[in-house]
Amino acid sequence: MNIILFGPPGAGKGTQAALLVEKYSIAHLSTGDMLRAAIAEESEIGKKAKAVIDAGQLVADYIMIEIISHRIDAPDCVNGFILDGFPRNVAQAEALDNILLDKDISLDGVLELVVDEEFLLDRIKKRASETVPEKRRVDDNAEVLKERLAVYHEQTAPVIPFYEEKGVLLKIDGMQDIGAVSRQIDAALAT
Ligand code: AMP
Repeated sequence: MNIILFGPPGAGKGTQAALLVEKYSIAHLSTGDMLRAAIAEESEIGKKAKAVIDAGQLVADYIMIEIISHRIDAPDCVNGFILDGFPRNVAQAEALDNILLDKDISLDGVLELVVDEEFLLDRIKKRASETVPEKRRVDDNAEVLKERLAVYHEQTAPVIPFYEEKGVLLKIDGMQDIGAVSRQIDAALAT
């Protein structure tokens, strides 16, 4: 099962990805988590990415494409993967098409978690207030969130029609509780 999970920051991608990982025994490929790990390790990529992430901007495409292209080959992807946070713009989506074609991998679905903006701001504020300070994300604050949402609308949202045209887009109402969203996802993937 190979899935892309789409949605603006705070839409609940991480939570739903964890459920899908459990259900299908697939790998969770979160580019945000990979970048945060690279920053914690102070690797070259981490050093390049830190200021960009803290400002709510996107890390360079060539870095992200290289990371994902390698990551998909890891043994834990043998049953498939869920991409969370990638592709983030049309150039990444086109590169992913080529990567998958090269590796003879097909997508089973592109899930879009649809949520409204008020809801997102509340959710991000809640996530920041409930997380212990050491684990709190530097980019989970109202100011950076505004930038992340602007970047989402300008660069990431155009990826949705890209997949809609391919006939693989599955729209999910992301404003319900975790269980209800998960049931909608199961039903959509079963079609
Ligand atoms: P996320 O955890 O997916 O919200 O990602 C956190 C931050 O990591 C984003 O705001 C970007 O700065 C960066 N990032 C994650 N995935 C990508 C990607 N595919 N392309 C560029 N930047 C990314």
